[in-house]
Amino acid sequence: MTTKMPVLFVGHGSPMVALEDSNITRAWKKIAENIPQPMAILAISAHWYGDDNRIQSDQKPKQIYDMYGFPMELYEIKYEPKGDLPLTKRVQELLGSSLTIDDDWGIDHGTWSVLVHMYPKVDIPVVQLSINMKASGKQLFEIGERLMPLRDEGVLLFGTGNIVHNLRKAKWGMEDGTPEADEFDQWVKERILERDVDAIMNYKAHPLAPYAAPTPDHFIPLLYILGATRAGDEITVFNEVRQLGSISMTGYLWGPSA
Ligand code: ZN
Repeated sequence: MTTKMPVLFVGHGSPMVALEDSNITRAWKKIAENIPQPMAILAISAHWYGDDNRIQSDQKPKQIYDMYGFPMELYEIKYEPKGDLPLTKRVQELLGSSLTIDDDWGIDHGTWSVLVHMYPKVDIPVVQLSINMKASGKQLFEIGERLMPLRDEGVLLFGTGNIVHNLRKAKWGMEDGTPEADEFDQWVKERILERDVDAIMNYKAHPLAPYAAPTPDHFIPLLYILGATRAGDEITVFNEVRQLGSISMTGYLWGPSA
């Protein structure tokens, strides 16, 4: 019997987190230790952001260093999991012909800066799915709904972004969040705990949305993941902190109750 898997959204923040040993990275590690070992990971990263739906098929997807101006040691991190062609094909089956294969991208830092902590042995295949900037909140949620059966096939649906992500308003050196960041992050948390998915799909209507998500890329992995949740899932909130004023690290795990 294949294990039923939870679904996960993590706030990844700065790529430098890949090199950290902190409460944030230890929480990710603990989640990986506490959930069933996935057969494969379908990663939905804020950083593969385009105007349609794409997926990797490569058996050896390349790792990409899609960030600039960081210390050399960050570019020396190797995280090169195998791909998983049967998973790619299964996702094509679930999402239909609008999904195209694209192996020009790779495993980006939204994915590897977290997985390097969760699965440091690099022993779980990873396939990345792009995020679609043209789709509405409801359409993104519906893509997640169509991916839900993967949970019963041993696949971990892994969304990586940030609920509040505004680099232009970042206050370098500030350890916590601005009142605006705190308020928006808290609002999303309350809606998640109340399972008010309509409010989250329509997050742009929130007066602080232009501050929290001036571009939607870091927010929308949450909508895919939310679509794959089930009413009976237990919800765990972790890393509920804000950094640099305008970045939220808050993450959510929806899982079958123990
Ligand atoms: Zn990012």
